[in-house]
Amino acid sequence: MSGQAQPGTLFIVSTPIGNLEDITYRAVKVLSSVDLIAAEDTRKTKILLNHYNISKPLVSYFSYNEVRRVPELVAKLKNGLSIAVVSDAGTPGISDPAFRIIRAALDEHLPVVSIPGATAFLTALVTSGLSTHRFVYEGFLPVKKGRTTMLNSLRTEERTIVLYESPHRLMRTLRDLLETLGDREIAVARELTKKFEEIIRGRISFAIQHFERNQIRGEFVLVVEGER
Ligand code: SAM
Repeated sequence: MSGQAQPGTLFIVSTPIGNLEDITYRAVKVLSSVDLIAAEDTRKTKILLNHYNISKPLVSYFSYNEVRRVPELVAKLKNGLSIAVVSDAGTPGISDPAFRIIRAALDEHLPVVSIPGATAFLTALVTSGLSTHRFVYEGFLPVKKGRTTMLNSLRTEERTIVLYESPHRLMRTLRDLLETLGDREIAVARELTKKFEEIIRGRISFAIQHFERNQIRGEFVLVVEGER
């Protein structure tokens, strides 16, 4: 499949996770040639589109309007429009909305094409220094219900564990990981591909000490070694 958008196709387009240059030629071509872009945050996507001189109709598609939007978007696809789905950052469908529209399009036998690109968990994993041979991506740990169960289930996980975390929950999660998994090796990747990119590598206790001394700012991926 070329970069030119085909009628009635749903494109799942990965966009940068910080650095606007981390986008593929093909993604730019697809975004330039679709009829409509469904974006998680239209203002954020406009910044990216302006950077590449792309001017396209935008419609919002985020977790709270997904259920309502899906039938509208599927109807447009069936009418022959081509639509690109983008999220705020990275790959749609990875801890971001996209699954519902993908499933709905496939159920209608409409073509779905993924345009690969940046995703924070792989960017963090490959630079973590921890085993990339086998890994498990868990996204965000549950905040309340199911958190302890999830943490306990990771105790015996032998694969490298990759988690997303927000700055205000980072310390709680690091402390919970230390308590549940013990003082394992961890890489805490912050602000990947951005100006203040930083990767803290060491034991979980070391990461806790580091963030007790430094301001906790930005977006985080945690890569934790599996059980040995
Ligand atoms: N779809 C995205 C992807 O493919 O990575 C993930 C979206 S999720 C809503 C947002 C989370 O991804 C952030 O809270 C953070 O954990 C992680 N993340 C996104 N961009 C990041 C970056 N530049 N550096 C570190 N973590 C990032």
